[in-house]
Amino acid sequence: LVSRMRQFGTTIFAEMSALAVRTGSINLGQGFPDTDGPPAMLDRAVEAIRSGANQYPPGPGVPELRQAVAEHRRRHYDLAYDPDGEVLVTVGATEAIAASVLALCEPGDEVIAFEPYYDSYAASIALAGARLVAVTLRPERGRFTFDPDELRAAVTPRTRAILVNSPHNPTGTVFTAEELACIAELCQERDLVAITDEVYEHLTFDGVAHIPMATLPGMRERTVMIASAGKTFSVTGWKTGWVCAPPELVRAVQTVKQFLTFTANGPWQLAVAYGLREELDWVAGLREGLEGKRDRLMSGLAAAGFEVLKPSGTYFVQTDIRPLGFTDGLELTRRLPELAGVVAIPTQVFYDHPDRGRHFVRFAFCKKDEVIDEAVTRLKRLG
Ligand code: PMP
Ligand code: GLN
Repeated sequence: LVSRMRQFGTTIFAEMSALAVRTGSINLGQGFPDTDGPPAMLDRAVEAIRSGANQYPPGPGVPELRQAVAEHRRRHYDLAYDPDGEVLVTVGATEAIAASVLALCEPGDEVIAFEPYYDSYAASIALAGARLVAVTLRPERGRFTFDPDELRAAVTPRTRAILVNSPHNPTGTVFTAEELACIAELCQERDLVAITDEVYEHLTFDGVAHIPMATLPGMRERTVMIASAGKTFSVTGWKTGWVCAPPELVRAVQTVKQFLTFTANGPWQLAVAYGLREELDWVAGLREGLEGKRDRLMSGLAAAGFEVLKPSGTYFVQTDIRPLGFTDGLELTRRLPELAGVVAIPTQVFYDHPDRGRHFVRFAFCKKDEVIDEAVTRLKRLG
């Protein structure tokens, strides 16, 4: 393995899901729902296969999905993207992120990301031979946020892009208009591209709305907006995502994408096009259900002795483990199956400065109520 990839090893999600299977534990680690997406959308995928949509789709994606994505962006955010030239379908958001970074960064360039960050960011940046510069999100009155001065100080002449993930995994923060404006101002001042990971765009709570970076003044032309079907429709295994950006940025990303995978799965693209057009009410129901699950898991974890930080989006809760007498989340999560029969994710692995996240552990609540309840019952053994 090349030296620039050696530090990555097995992802924490694979490690912890394997641990859950091996020990028969309840898996509140890797974020995937234990219920299926909208039935009619699943039928569409089957119909697409049966009706022969089984050969290479066009490189940029099937026209039906590109149109549905553009229409969705227009309807929800009043953002106009041309389905021919400003929308690119990818193999999940993961490929979109990797292809964007590879398309935009020369070796030695720097990309800013907010830590704790989703693990594929660091690997994609390393693949490009670029350098990740981490700006830390810290809890302030129960919500993870950044210091604008720290962000400003992180920009150097080598900075090429800022990776912005909102709603943010793993903290559950949804960036406010002010936070986004602060990032946007810097992008314009220092001529940076915003690569935005918006895979949790529909999963926000308490009336908090997701604001796409591209809707801020002056940002549409310098934003690579990324989203995917996995979280929106509870089909994380479908790996269907998309990029919306101005033509020159989409062309750059597509140039890379065509040699990673050439194109994305055909039948699933047709089904997701249907989902974006017809199943947004289903998504609203999912969101509402998740808000209840969030509260259910939060009160359970608090009763079990954790300090709980309330997320405004995603399907993850951060906890501080110190009130239970633990100090190291990685150590605790590796022992959690034996201690309580539950699997969770140690947040420290998403930091360049692991000390800053050592005492945080992430729990997923995209699970059936009875699964959450049983996990909580088990976790009460820790106290
Ligand atoms: N970004 C974030 C923040 C995620 O949590 C995930 C996992 N869903 C992804 C990207 C990857 O999305 P996909 O499965 O569509 O590749
Ligand atoms: N996005 C999911 C999470 O954060 C997992 C994705 C993965 O397994 N790579 O849990």
